[in-house]
Amino acid sequence: MTENKKQIAILGSTGSIGTQALEVISENDSLFEIYALTANNNIDLLIEQARKYMPEMVAIGNESLYLPLKNALADLPIKVFAGADSIAQLAEMQPIDIVLTAMVGYSGLKPTISAIKAGKKIALANKETLVVAGELICELASQNNAQIIPVDSEHSAIFQCLAGEGNNAIEKIILTASGGPFRTKTIHELEYVTSVQALKHPNWEMGAKITIDSASLMNKGFEIIEAKWLFGVTPDQIEVVVHPQSIIHSMVQFTDGSIKAQLGMPDMKLPIQYAFTYPERLKTNFPRFDFNVCSQFTFEKPDLDRFRNLEYAYYAMEKGGNMPCILNASNEVVVAKFLKDEIGFLQMSDIIENVMAKADFIAKPTYDDYVRTDALVRILTNEIVS
Ligand code: MN
Repeated sequence: MTENKKQIAILGSTGSIGTQALEVISENDSLFEIYALTANNNIDLLIEQARKYMPEMVAIGNESLYLPLKNALADLPIKVFAGADSIAQLAEMQPIDIVLTAMVGYSGLKPTISAIKAGKKIALANKETLVVAGELICELASQNNAQIIPVDSEHSAIFQCLAGEGNNAIEKIILTASGGPFRTKTIHELEYVTSVQALKHPNWEMGAKITIDSASLMNKGFEIIEAKWLFGVTPDQIEVVVHPQSIIHSMVQFTDGSIKAQLGMPDMKLPIQYAFTYPERLKTNFPRFDFNVCSQFTFEKPDLDRFRNLEYAYYAMEKGGNMPCILNASNEVVVAKFLKDEIGFLQMSDIIENVMAKADFIAKPTYDDYVRTDALVRILTNEIVS
């Protein structure tokens, strides 16, 4: 471990964000060093990454993979752990400066809470953390002086638009959405789309779960909730605009009517790097946007009849309490089932709506209430499906 380099822990290093973060770190190895890497199941890639980056420690979520991981790294001075509790403890380690939370879904909540309690700077890629428990996370972050820097491209764009604005009030946040692979499909066509089609996102290369969420617009629904917590705005201050080119990553309108936008090629390495270096920027050789190549930006209103998830997310955000947690848990179950072709694309929204109506609402949930809600809603969703 080198003293003057920023020590980084990547939670979810084998996923799309995790692997791109490792590229960013490799390109800037005089500034950053990997302190810890974690994965859920992908032991082969985790071993490869550990050998290459030589972190102090690694952890695997799936405890049955502990011994194979430990044996594979036995010749190296790398500490090896397994299980969700170990990942949460690892995120608190004293030398770590920045924790990149890049795991999938609800599993991000617990380690993010422990990293915040340890006062770490959080590069937040796991939006579900804020969807499920935004109020709790924001309270803990302010109590522990833990800065949360968004990695999600839209929220990074807004964060960049707000740099230098001091206390200037936000009138409105305009979140852009690509519209996903099914933007132009009719409701009838949507009944028959497959997971293979849904996995082909037009602009972004991402993991399977978020790609399905993008196709169903649940991702955008989660992002409005994420924006509410990150930027302290009310639901009526968040507008979603479909912008199929994905060059404008999002915008902020101030109270004088001025709108600031952040633009660039769709490449997650930029927001990842900005989260690591904020408030500074580092020179990169990432591809540049060329106005001569893309001469038109277009904008559309999102269609809530075809993409009901966005409406459910607005509802969950307004309702508050554990409703966004209910939304998230039921979504995780239906997305997994859609990926296995057990249910259809439109059925995902039918089931989520049904679950939101039936699950027990808690207005002021504690951490334990979120844990219980998540578990119960998964059971309820499975019951409704079968
Ligand atoms: Mn996004």
